[in-house]
Amino acid sequence: MRKNIVAGNWKMNTTVPEGVKLAKEVNDAVAAAKDLKCEVVIGVPFTHLTAVKAVIDINKVGLAAENCAAKDKGAYTGEVSAAMVASTGANYVILGHSERREYFNETPEMLKEKVDLALANGLKVIFCCGESLELRENGTYKEYIKSEIEGSLFHLSADQFANIVIAYEPIWAIGTGKTATSDQAEEVHAVIRGLVADKYGKQVADDTTILYGGSCKPANAPELFSKPDIDGGLIGGASLKADSFMGIVTAF
Ligand code: PEP
Repeated sequence: MRKNIVAGNWKMNTTVPEGVKLAKEVNDAVAAAKDLKCEVVIGVPFTHLTAVKAVIDINKVGLAAENCAAKDKGAYTGEVSAAMVASTGANYVILGHSERREYFNETPEMLKEKVDLALANGLKVIFCCGESLELRENGTYKEYIKSEIEGSLFHLSADQFANIVIAYEPIWAIGTGKTATSDQAEEVHAVIRGLVADKYGKQVADDTTILYGGSCKPANAPELFSKPDIDGGLIGGASLKADSFMGIVTAF
């Protein structure tokens, strides 16, 4: 049985005290909510992980780092390893966000290393994929998404793949206010589930959580989440306020 998940991605926002306050608000709102139909995760900057972990109930609110290093340990000044992330008590890591691919030159090969290290350290991975406006408009977006997923994930065993959540985030919809329509998103989610079925079989595909990300808000979440292959969202801007984030968490 696959899980619905709503995960926040705070990106490079909030100081530690601001982040702790926001995390507490989300934690309290989740604790007070009745019959939630999804798992809730917050993705926070590295600097916040330990302090946020101390104020949340990890059994109710999952905790994600927004990245980890492609190396195990050693002389990589400024990098943060998957083992370091796991040692804070975080249970997820977001990998392959389009901002990291674009501004920090992350390649499918590098992401493959990160995925392996994250899984080896017991972290679940929220793996992002998605096309640019150019690829959407020239019609090659499905091939591109296939190459992102194959290049970084399809070396995994089926057992390892059980710890992967895929987030489809069309780059043209991230932070732009332009949401993919629910039909556009559903089309790609179904393609992704089909790729997973071809590689790992129908059962694994049915069990894989596939999130939509890109200007998702309380107003459009119910329509997106009503689609059969959309199992929740990865939320940027709207995760920075507890009430808007909870408006999405409760949209199922
Ligand atoms: C994101 O960056 O993961 C994202 C979905 O951002 P936003 O919700 O702000 O479009």
